[in-house]
Amino acid sequence: MHELERDKYTHEQVMPEITWIYDGINDSIYVDESETEAFVIDTGMRDENLTNYIREHITKKPLTLVVTHGHLDHSMKVSEFDCFYMSKKDDHLVPTEAHADFNKRIDINGSDVITIPGLDLVVVDSAGHTPGSVSFVDRKHRAVFHGDAFSSGANVWMQLPGCSDLSAYRKTILEAAAKMRDLGVDESWTFLGGHYEQKFGFPDPRYQPNEPGLLLMEQMAELCQKLIDGEIQGELVPEMVRFGDTVYSARYEKAWMLYTLKQVK
Ligand SMILES: [Zn+2]
Repeated sequence: MHELERDKYTHEQVMPEITWIYDGINDSIYVDESETEAFVIDTGMRDENLTNYIREHITKKPLTLVVTHGHLDHSMKVSEFDCFYMSKKDDHLVPTEAHADFNKRIDINGSDVITIPGLDLVVVDSAGHTPGSVSFVDRKHRAVFHGDAFSSGANVWMQLPGCSDLSAYRKTILEAAAKMRDLGVDESWTFLGGHYEQKFGFPDPRYQPNEPGLLLMEQMAELCQKLIDGEIQGELVPEMVRFGDTVYSARYEKAWMLYTLKQVK
């Protein structure tokens, strides 16, 4: 298994013009470039300047930040950028330590297109993990940046306060998958999630990741339905009771979800 560097930024080119940055704390950041400018997708939460790292090691092109959702491990460094694109439904999740200026937050909704010269990202509503979760579809590079919306290939965290119930999540997933197919996405596209497990696997060999993609999304929707119908029963995850509610884990094919019983409706 790939040995990840701890306690520093590292990076690796995952596709021509797309670079993955690992923040040393389990978070993935991406730099998605056109000829003249670049998108940065998410910020990680390393206590060290991100934009300096990008300019020194990856590109000196002008940077435009887009954020998949407001959780701290995706939004902590927003104040390093002149402005940032994120759903305002997640403003409340951005931690005060991020010193975010919400006058510089440009609200995004499903079907918006964020453009820099030579490249654009189509916003696809992916709510569930948070109310304002979105995915970004890059049609030029045939890549989808989906944050934590459908898991990074391991489990999606639906057990947190503010996560939606499973029928609402199921509806969002199916609409998101249909929208992506309309945009031309198929199983040959690259799905790039918010955390490192998708790429290198967990340290624990029992928990090897599945490749994220449309199939995983559709199986996640099926898992929601099977939990609602009582066809699948999750297993208790004793070590996660600390989040306030008792947490359960359930799997179906590639899909794997952590959730609480009150969401099963
Ligand atoms: Zn998250």
